[in-house]
Amino acid sequence: MPVPHAHRSPQLPLAVAPRRCLLPRIVTKLKLKPGIVTGDALNQLFAYCKQAQCALPAINVIGSHISNAAMAAAKEAGAPIIIQFSHTGAQFVGGKTLDNSKQQASIGGAIAGAMHVRALAEVYGVPVVLHTDHAAKKLLGWVDGLLDAGEKFFEKHGEPLFSSHMLDLSEQPIAENIALSSERLQRMAKLGMTLEVELGVTGGEEDGVDNTGVEHSKLYTRPEDVLAVYDALGPIGNFTVAASFGNTHGVYAPGNVKLKPTILRDSQTHIQAARKTGPSPVNFVFHGGSGSTPEEIREAVSYGVVKMNIDTDTQYAFLQPIKKFMDEKDAYLKSQIGNPEGADAPNKKYIDPRGWLHLGEKGVTARLVEAFKDLGSFQKFEF
Ligand SMILES: [Zn+2]
Repeated sequence: MPVPHAHRSPQLPLAVAPRRCLLPRIVTKLKLKPGIVTGDALNQLFAYCKQAQCALPAINVIGSHISNAAMAAAKEAGAPIIIQFSHTGAQFVGGKTLDNSKQQASIGGAIAGAMHVRALAEVYGVPVVLHTDHAAKKLLGWVDGLLDAGEKFFEKHGEPLFSSHMLDLSEQPIAENIALSSERLQRMAKLGMTLEVELGVTGGEEDGVDNTGVEHSKLYTRPEDVLAVYDALGPIGNFTVAASFGNTHGVYAPGNVKLKPTILRDSQTHIQAARKTGPSPVNFVFHGGSGSTPEEIREAVSYGVVKMNIDTDTQYAFLQPIKKFMDEKDAYLKSQIGNPEGADAPNKKYIDPRGWLHLGEKGVTARLVEAFKDLGSFQKFEF
């Protein structure tokens, strides 16, 4: 008699069904030192993530508040966190009024943001991966400036300032993408840094990069392109691949996004067969993680995603408690003196930004802890 497959969701094809996440393998917790994770340690961290079927959230930060909230989340979740600066996020750290025509605000801001995290990661007692986000061709000067600073830092401290940088040359032809990425990785490998490259275009809009009108076929990475990157970058150094499988920046109404995580699986098996590697030879990055369902996230992780970027969801998590505070305390925020408790009552304690900013920080921390759980990395580490 056929066994009914009632436990399988009808929407999911059989290939997706392993549901390994429901029966976690017994994996010894990975031991990590608090501080910035670079070089071989980062490589081992990603290898462990694939083995343990989990991934780490990568949050875009724009200043010390969000960085602190992220480190607090790593502490609560018992897992390392990836803290990353986008080009405009780094510029914001530097200050919106600064001239950025030669990337100086984005370079200085990213360095300042990294130094803040470097000074505090051990105080929080958590391991942190320091990363920079999308750098298109016109922003190569930003990454090159950070590599100049990274080389100087390496000379003094024997480790790189950042764990990794991303180049996003997905708009260029694949050969140019690979050539420019190889050049940077040669420089980065000497410092023990990892390079994230992008193949295919992440849909949606973020940080002024608008890909909402890009034709649909371009939103999906081709396995042969992943193999080409594997062949070119593998011999040079450590790299991760931001692959496009219908993922978009920002959050859209359900149904507007057709995720095809099987593209990740197909790329892994393509390389495994062509180059006779072990399973999941590539470390994948999931951009546009905000708004994804836990099922979609788990499926992507099962195909070798080790890092998931989250931005819109944490921005929202920062805003909501602050909005609630502003709404509820409206009558205390209209003047410095005078509120419903009396015409002479002072409002200083409601005005102090530390009060309401910390509410936002707590919102971000809570949202990130949820992300660690969705990604399967909650309490999977020891430090
Ligand atoms: Zn992205």
